Amino acid sequence: MIKEILLSESADMGLILSDEAAEKLDKFTAMLLRRNEDMNLTGAATEAEVAKRHILDSLAILRFLPETALSVLDVGSGAGFPGLPMSAAAPRLRITLLDAREKRVEFLREVCGALDIDAQCLAGRAEELAAGSLMREAFDAAVSRAVARLNVLAELCMPFVRVGGLFIAMKSADSDEEIEQARDAIKTFGGSIDSIREYTTDGIKRRAVLIIKNRNTPPEYPRRFSKIQKKPL
Ligand code: SAM
Repeated sequence: MIKEILLSESADMGLILSDEAAEKLDKFTAMLLRRNEDMNLTGAATEAEVAKRHILDSLAILRFLPETALSVLDVGSGAGFPGLPMSAAAPRLRITLLDAREKRVEFLREVCGALDIDAQCLAGRAEELAAGSLMREAFDAAVSRAVARLNVLAELCMPFVRVGGLFIAMKSADSDEEIEQARDAIKTFGGSIDSIREYTTDGIKRRAVLIIKNRNTPPEYPRRFSKIQKKPL
């Protein structure tokens, strides 16, 4: 049972986690480890590792979301991080979990259904969905963790964010060079770095890079993934 770890450590972070949310995240952890036996979902081997390394890290960025941010897209959610714990902990948010791998999204749907977590689970590639009109500039915020370097990630995520909205990129503490290299790209996609917030979970220093969307992303972005990879901005 990791419910107690989640309750006490989230309180240490200044986050009020309801008993019901902690219970759901406890059950999610069990489902994740069980499914991990036949699917590659996480490197974490124990419930405590999932709780400390992934769930608390996901919850940590809730404090960086402004009150006005209600619709949130998690790009490359994988086994649900950070969006699924955010949705369980803050049900007022309308969270969409997006991943390119259908099998992972199937798992996310199963978890949300079983635990009554109100997140939309969507299979697809970010660069293709962001090029269409339905989801483009339709979210108050985008979040993403462990998907790509920041210059590439910004091209994948920023087109989804409305002008005035926020993109939160979760990065390690040693990301100075990566952040510097991405500044021009972020500007090209219509944004600027507002602040870099440092925090610690599981004794590890981490960063949330907060990027404000100042103007519309030019229609030629995002490019096809092969192009993004070959010529990252
Ligand atoms: N965010 C999760 C986490 O922190 O544990 C998963 C990280 S995993 C290393 C990267 C995920 O991003 C994979 O599940 C992959 O399928 C997804 N992904 C990579 N590129 C993507 C794209 N262009 N569109 C949608 N999902 C993508």
